[in-house]
Amino acid sequence: MSGSHFPLYRHYRAAHAAVDKSGGSRYHFTMQNTPVDVLTLTHAHATARLGLVHRVLRVRHLTEAAFVVRIERNDVPATAGQCATLGVHGSGINREYSMYAGELDDYFEFLVRVVEGGQVSTELQRCQPGDQVDFDGPYGQFIIEQPRDPARKYLFIATGVGIAPYRSYIRSYPQLDYTIVHGVRHLSECYERDEYPPARYRTCVTREDGGDFRGRVSDYLRKQPPAPGTICYLCGNNAMIAETYDILRAHGVPGDQLFAEIFF
Ligand SMILES: Cc1cc2nc3c(=O)[nH]c(=O)nc-3n(C[C@H](O)[C@H](O)[C@H](O)COP(=O)(O)OP(=O)(O)OC[C@H]3O[C@@H](n4cnc5c(N)ncnc54)[C@H](O)[C@@H]3O)c2cc1C
Repeated sequence: MSGSHFPLYRHYRAAHAAVDKSGGSRYHFTMQNTPVDVLTLTHAHATARLGLVHRVLRVRHLTEAAFVVRIERNDVPATAGQCATLGVHGSGINREYSMYAGELDDYFEFLVRVVEGGQVSTELQRCQPGDQVDFDGPYGQFIIEQPRDPARKYLFIATGVGIAPYRSYIRSYPQLDYTIVHGVRHLSECYERDEYPPARYRTCVTREDGGDFRGRVSDYLRKQPPAPGTICYLCGNNAMIAETYDILRAHGVPGDQLFAEIFF
């Protein structure tokens, strides 16, 4: 995968623009000249609402650099795993954030990591209940097609706040048979881990002991291939997704059982 990380991200941005014009269909792109038939980095716009203003209901500060912002739902329909763009009202800058709440919750939530020097994440961190945010969405195809099929097993692989869409799935579809593999630097980044049954939540911690595995998710997955038939989701940073994608393919996971969403 070397050399393909940044093109992947640019492809995502290109896909975003292309789908805007086409009205939204799955976007296919290539990784090292191999068609990647399943990475769903597109934004389907059929249900997106533009230019909305939602009030902040609550902010949960989980660590110094991560928080959950809860905003009004205002009856906007969304499918678990989709994202929206948010920004402080009137700032003129929005960024994408994945749904953290469930489909049926009467609010939206977003799990945000504060990026040092970042424009939007730092502004959102200062939000207080009653403040307003600009909202466009929902967008995206990083969803579960048949969440109620009991025969399906899911492996949800994330780094950092990439766990957000998985919490959205799990809240929306309580019967899902899933395992999360969560890569973090420190245990404090295992955000709201009590919500996941311990047997379904595996931590890969790079900078301290105390997790289930000391090291990166890619190292873990090299040693722990998913059971045949498992549907694998990847979410987080570009480098992790590119590396993990190749590892899973080498383990024999078919392309049509791999889905990915790149955050940065
Ligand atoms: C589909 C999609 C869903 C996303 N969902 C989430 C989400 O649920 N939660 C969340 O926190 N972010 C999410 N992001 C990332 C988010 O959109 C912003 O990029 C992020 O909040 C930084 O924005 P900013 O304006 O603060 O920083 P900027 O001013 O845009 O960027 C500063 C720099 O930091 C880099 N950067 C961006 N994100 C990170 C990061 N997480 N860690 C380290 N460096 C980074 C950027 O590439 C840029 O170079 C998502 C992105 C996409 C494309």
